[in-house]
Amino acid sequence: MEDRLPLFSPHVTEAAITAVTDTLRSRWIGEGPKVAVFEEKFGGRFAPGYSAVGVGAGTDAVHLAYLLAGIDEGDEVITTIFTCTATNTPLLYQRAKIVFADVQEDTLNIDPDHVRRLVNERTKAIVCMPYGGLPCDMQELQEIASENGIPLITDAAHAFGATYKGQDLALLSDFTAYSFMAIKHITTADGGMLVLRERELTDKARRMRWFGIDRSAKLEGGWDNNIREVGYKYQMTDIAAAMGLAALEDFDQTLRLRQGFLHAYEERLRDVAGVDVVGSGYTDREHAAWLCTVYVDDRAGLERKLKEHNIDSNQVHYRNDRHDVFGGRRPDLPTMDRVEERYLVLPLHTQMGIGDVERVCDVLASGW
Ligand SMILES: *Cc1c(COP(=O)(O)O)cnc(C)c1O
Repeated sequence: MEDRLPLFSPHVTEAAITAVTDTLRSRWIGEGPKVAVFEEKFGGRFAPGYSAVGVGAGTDAVHLAYLLAGIDEGDEVITTIFTCTATNTPLLYQRAKIVFADVQEDTLNIDPDHVRRLVNERTKAIVCMPYGGLPCDMQELQEIASENGIPLITDAAHAFGATYKGQDLALLSDFTAYSFMAIKHITTADGGMLVLRERELTDKARRMRWFGIDRSAKLEGGWDNNIREVGYKYQMTDIAAAMGLAALEDFDQTLRLRQGFLHAYEERLRDVAGVDVVGSGYTDREHAAWLCTVYVDDRAGLERKLKEHNIDSNQVHYRNDRHDVFGGRRPDLPTMDRVEERYLVLPLHTQMGIGDVERVCDVLASGW
């Protein structure tokens, strides 16, 4: 039996291990100077000219975006049905009214045509999630948002380094959230980053991640010791920032490696009957290659066959309305209905090699 090929594997370099050790020996282990440096470098790499605010998790970044966008009880928010629940759970926290939009069959990204039919005067924001790392139809989504005077929010947890029509993805939304949980392109074990444009909202985000306290004024001794807005504990630690800084150093290499594996999957599966790779063939946007997802018939049969070859595969994300907490299954999502039994995610991570891609593709080509 060949070695087990896992679906995911964390990317932690020796440089990250050294950086964490050095941090643990320093005076700052909580939120300190390394967080500020990481924010600066992260912004410079993924969203030049925008601000980056380090937080404790991707979910924190998403929640902060909703708070800063003023999403409150009863506000309608149009969001994708197909994502990690972390995209949408903070909307429940805000007691917003979640309006799920359908996906596009070829990308599993939110369908802008459906968004356009759903938007109305009660809509407070549009939320999109570049599935697997392929950017959504940002131009169409931006148009709908700006015509209606509402923010566009991107949960970019899958999409580090993705570009759309030559621009960094984070420059195309009012708020963009990244996750550094264990299996993302860049990991800090857990952590997140909120990227945004407006200076005032950036200052507010920095206060809100620390109980509502203006920490920089406090450290300089110029704070009047009065909390005026409701904040929480959403900050990033210097331990996490040290890991993040180390991961940024070899990020371009990580991205190229992942993209190489995705392209190899696409090439090798092109002529395999009954297998379609989701989201391939786009030339106007760059895929960040977090996931390789295929459409197949008899998905359970393929999962079993892969398991027999010691290869992991699974669904990773599910349509969110399968969870009762989101208020029951929606009747108006025909594309999601059509594909929900057909998609499967294949191994893609930096601890594998091109031979592993071949091994998976050979199993697919042999039928199941
Ligand atoms: C990973 C992920 C998150 C969650 O981020 P955490 O850092 O675990 O809070 C949010 N949205 C999507 C789409 C994700 O894949």
